[in-house]
Amino acid sequence: MDMLLKNLIVSEITNTGPITISRFMEHCLYHKQFGYYSRKNTIGRQGDFITSPEISQVFGELIGAWLAQTWVDRGMPTPFSLVELGPGNGTMMRDILNAMRTLPEFTGSASIILVEKSPTLKDFQKAKLANHNPTWIENVLDIPEEPLFLIANEFLDALPIRQFKKNNNNWFERSIGLTSNGELHFVYIPSNFNNELNLLYRDIPNDVIIEISDIAKNILSILSEKLLRHGGVALFIDYGYFGGTGETLQAVSRHAFSNPLENLGESDLTSQVNFKNIYNLVNNKGLRATNMLSQGKFLMGLGIKSRSELLKEQMSGMQRNLHISAVNRLTDEDKMGSIFQVMGVTNVGSPALPILESS
Ligand code: SAH
Repeated sequence: MDMLLKNLIVSEITNTGPITISRFMEHCLYHKQFGYYSRKNTIGRQGDFITSPEISQVFGELIGAWLAQTWVDRGMPTPFSLVELGPGNGTMMRDILNAMRTLPEFTGSASIILVEKSPTLKDFQKAKLANHNPTWIENVLDIPEEPLFLIANEFLDALPIRQFKKNNNNWFERSIGLTSNGELHFVYIPSNFNNELNLLYRDIPNDVIIEISDIAKNILSILSEKLLRHGGVALFIDYGYFGGTGETLQAVSRHAFSNPLENLGESDLTSQVNFKNIYNLVNNKGLRATNMLSQGKFLMGLGIKSRSELLKEQMSGMQRNLHISAVNRLTDEDKMGSIFQVMGVTNVGSPALPILESS
C-alpha cells in the first residue's frame, strides 16, 4: 500500500521538483485510497495513538458541562450549532451529549454539526451517534449561520504545515525531494516569500525553523467571522506551545514515533500547535482569546476529582484501577495534563469563560 503512495509522490517530485511538507502531508493523510485517514482503527488502544476522550468518558462529560455553561451564560441562544472539528471515533461528542441530557434545553436546541474529512471515521461517528442525528460537513464554510458553540480536540495538530528557515534575509522552505537513487529526503529550496517572511519573522536567528499552517489560518479566519456575526464560543485543545520556534513535525504509528518519510500513509503525521498564532489571529479579527491553560489545570478547575470520586464509588477491582489511572493520565503534570493545552475564543464584551478567564 505505501509503495503506491510513494510512487505517486515520487512521480510528482520528478515532474515538478521538490514538494512542500504541506503537499506531502496532504498526500499521506488525505489520499482517498492510501491516505492515513482512510485507514481503519487509527485512534484508540488498538490503533496508532490514543486521545483524551478515548482515555476516559469523564473528559467529554466535563467539556460538555463547560460548553453548556458558556451557552447558559450567553442567554441560551436558540437555535444554535454544536460543532466538533475532527471528531475521530465520535467519542467526545457522545459523552458530551450523554452528560448534557440533564439540560434538555441545551441538547434540544442544538444542531449537531461534525466537520470531518475522512469517510472511514465518518462511519465510526455515524455508528456512535446514531441516536443524535448529526450533520456532516467537510468545510467550516458550511457551518450554519447561527450562534456557534464549537470544540476541537487534537484537530489543529493534524492540519498540514510548511516549514521555513532563513539565512540572512533569504528564506528557504524545507521540502521533500529525491536522492540520486530515488529515495525521499528533506531539502531546502529558496522561497518566494522573502518579503512576507522578513516582515513576520524579523527577529528570528538564522537556521531556526518556523512553522506555518495556511489551512489552520484559513479555518480560524472563517470561524472567527462566524463568531463575529452570530456570537458563541470555540474551545481548542491540543499539544502545543505559546510562541517560539522549532521543528515539530512528527510521525506516530502503533504508539511509537516513526520516520515521516517511511511507511507513507501508515503513520499519523502531526505538528505541535503554536497557540500564539491562534491568539493573535482571533484578537486581530476583533474577538477575545483566553490565555493558554494546561489541560490538567483546566480539568481540575472543572472538578474532575470529585466527578471521578463519584464514578469510583460505583466501580470495583480492575475497572476501578483503570478508571483511577485514566484520570491521572489526563491530569498529571508529567503526562497529558501539561503536554496538552487549552484556549477559548469568544466575543469581546461577552461573559468570562469559566476556568479559562476566572482568576
Ligand atoms: N478529536 C478526535 C480525533 C483527533 S484525530 C479525538 O480527540 O479523538 C484528527 C481528526 O481530524 C480526525 O477525525 C481527522 O479525520 C480529522 N481531520 C484531519 N484533517 C481534517 C481536515 N482538513 N478537515 C476535516 N477533518 C480533518
